[in-house]
Amino acid sequence: MTLTTKINMVDLQGQYQKIKAEVDAEIQEVLDSAWFIKGPKVAAFEQDLANYLGVKHVIGCANGTDALQVAMMAIGLKPGDEVIVPAFTYVATAEVIALLQLTPVMIDVDIDSFNSTADLIEAAITPKTKAIVPVHLYGQSADMEAIMAVAKKHNLYVIEDNAQAIGSDYTFTDGRVQKSGTIGHIGCTSFFPSKNLGCYGDGGAIFTNDDEIAGQIRMVANHGQAKKYHHSVIGVNSRLDAIQAAVLKVKLQYLDDYAAARQAVAAQYDKAFADITEITTPVRSANSTHVFHQYTMRIANGKRDALKTHLAGLDIPSMIYYPIPLYNQIAFAPFYEGKEPLAATETLCKEVISLPIHTEMEADVLAYIIDGVRSLFE
Ligand SMILES: *Cc1c(COP(=O)(O)O)cnc(C)c1O
Repeated sequence: MTLTTKINMVDLQGQYQKIKAEVDAEIQEVLDSAWFIKGPKVAAFEQDLANYLGVKHVIGCANGTDALQVAMMAIGLKPGDEVIVPAFTYVATAEVIALLQLTPVMIDVDIDSFNSTADLIEAAITPKTKAIVPVHLYGQSADMEAIMAVAKKHNLYVIEDNAQAIGSDYTFTDGRVQKSGTIGHIGCTSFFPSKNLGCYGDGGAIFTNDDEIAGQIRMVANHGQAKKYHHSVIGVNSRLDAIQAAVLKVKLQYLDDYAAARQAVAAQYDKAFADITEITTPVRSANSTHVFHQYTMRIANGKRDALKTHLAGLDIPSMIYYPIPLYNQIAFAPFYEGKEPLAATETLCKEVISLPIHTEMEADVLAYIIDGVRSLFE
């Protein structure tokens, strides 16, 4: 089989073509209003997102990394405070911790869910621990009910890094359902273009149900001022601009459809690789839906890199999220001196590979990718 189109990890061009009229009209409104920073468009999007998530406050900001930083600044952590973070995550999560002179305490993840667990978190708690940052990796929520119980017991803040799982539903043992990112004290997300809810530039948001924390977040993100030219704390400048809010307002309406499209692709991959013993397809957590920001498999017997090379030869892109444990990064190694490597993190860095998954996947492209993967193992 040959393909005429280039395969990409995501298809933002195809997605835009389907919503072009709506997006263009929203952007035109911003251009006509000349209100480019914050303003009514940003406020309207924040309200739409708050309604969608079922959360009291949504505060837009400049990107997902800023969302995490502002969240940590808003709860008044002090230099030397310890913040627990998975060693198997995108660098941004730990970066802001170190940047604020807090101490990132890197822990292992569960090898099936790729997420940190309440037990792993609790084992890392010391008298200096002040906060926990669960990362809902690849699109499904960590076990927030258990994590919140540990946080409550030890009086810790929980900041959810929801950059990859926006839209996923978490179900509590009593049957209650809540959106990921709204269960901890603060949730953070990124609107980087390739994220499930992505804009056409940089953007991010912070969510909370706590009025006081929301006020602090707005203040910190706006130069530490609640009232213009009155600066109560040292803040930053982190704003969502109106053109990005215009794009996001349109795309939010399709977020659930987009998740369904991703889930359909994932189901096809699952079925296609079920009989290959060297492939472990993504394990679904019992208490979270999966919105498949990434479709990440594990490849056994040291064949992961061979698969990547094999796919590249067929013009099929793939990605390794993430190739190196955080504690082995030069910048983060000093925070991990004298500690043992983490077993699941080490294994995952050697075994994971993510396949193209997006909202516009054509049947022939999907079949081509599936054949490409299978052909290495046959
Ligand atoms: C994308 C991402 C971020 C950072 O978002 P930016 O908007 O790129 O700053 C943080 N954490 C995770 C898990 C991410 O995937």
